[in-house]
Amino acid sequence: MSLWHFICQRLGLKILLANVVVIIVGMAVLVATTTFTSPNALADHMTRMETLMGRDPQILAEERQSFILAVNEVLLISAGAALIAAVAVSLFVTRRIVDPIRAMTEASRNIAAGDYHKRVQMLEPDELGSLAGSFNQMAQQLEQTERKRVELMGDVAHELRTPLASIRSTMEGLVDGILPPEPNIFIGVQREVTRLQRLVQDLEELSRAEAGQIALDLHPADLSQLIQMAAERLRPQYADKGVALRVDIPSFLPQVRVDAGRMTQVLINLLGNALQYTSAEGSVVVRAWQAGANVQVAVQDTGVGLTPEHLARIFERFYRVDKSRARIGGGSGIGLTIAKHLIEAHGGRIWAASDGVGQGSAFTFALPAML
Ligand code: ADP
Repeated sequence: MSLWHFICQRLGLKILLANVVVIIVGMAVLVATTTFTSPNALADHMTRMETLMGRDPQILAEERQSFILAVNEVLLISAGAALIAAVAVSLFVTRRIVDPIRAMTEASRNIAAGDYHKRVQMLEPDELGSLAGSFNQMAQQLEQTERKRVELMGDVAHELRTPLASIRSTMEGLVDGILPPEPNIFIGVQREVTRLQRLVQDLEELSRAEAGQIALDLHPADLSQLIQMAAERLRPQYADKGVALRVDIPSFLPQVRVDAGRMTQVLINLLGNALQYTSAEGSVVVRAWQAGANVQVAVQDTGVGLTPEHLARIFERFYRVDKSRARIGGGSGIGLTIAKHLIEAHGGRIWAASDGVGQGSAFTFALPAML
């Protein structure tokens, strides 16, 4: 490696060299200035010495000599002092600049190698400090994304395992002749396959929602109409189960800017859940009203209800209160997560409330009204 390459690869050396160049230029200017001005100064000095001490050539020569020596000595001392200062300043600056950069380089190498825990210490509140801050933020974001990715893989594997195991054991039973090849056995397999298909669809939707990639086709819309339509779509299922469904909306409701398809999806999800977790003879009411600058919609049921512990986690993906029960009902615990993403993508928020187990629950969302 040539000396030039060696220097090029070290920021500290470059800073030192830059300082040395500045000193050399400064010294050159100083020497040039002294060479120009010292003859005049010396001539003045000699004239004064002549008047004071007479015209002794010996003394005058000595005087000239000591004057030149003094000037050279001053130049040498200042050059030495400047060089020492340059080295000291370079070392100081190098420590302050190069050390944090080295730390960031090392941390970024660790991150590239998959170790997301590394952080850089922020020593100074200057530009390098804020760079270190941004770097740490980026590392934290990457760590979170990676953790989510690993969690998602685990969750998906877990969700796939049960239906696949069920299909496999049924098929083995059929092959070994333990299970009779009857329609209800095949219908069971078909049901599991349908569940898997729905899970895959939900997962696709969830991954798009989590990546913020669901494109919304926003238009001014009348929420009352969307609520009525969603209720009418589910009314036959409500009637089949014997759960009463009531819609309670004031005659005037401000319009909202929404994607009508997506909003219907949220309403169907909430109405479907309310039906699923409410037993026969129970009832579900959908209300809508204006609350300040928002329009709020609540789906309230008299169903199984939720404990505070479950309420806190209900919007997490794959979260189900009763795993076996939800499996029978066909839920994968993704619907509410998608609903939350959709409502938030519309600039709104969604929350759940319940007085406890057996007390029913209410799912409410708020959207900015077009006032
Ligand atoms: P799923 O497809 O399992 O219904 P969701 O994300 O829609 O998934 O709901 C997640 C969980 O929240 C459900 O499994 C259920 O335990 C609970 N849940 C949702 N809606 C209600 C409700 N109206 N009453 C009681 N529990 C509910």
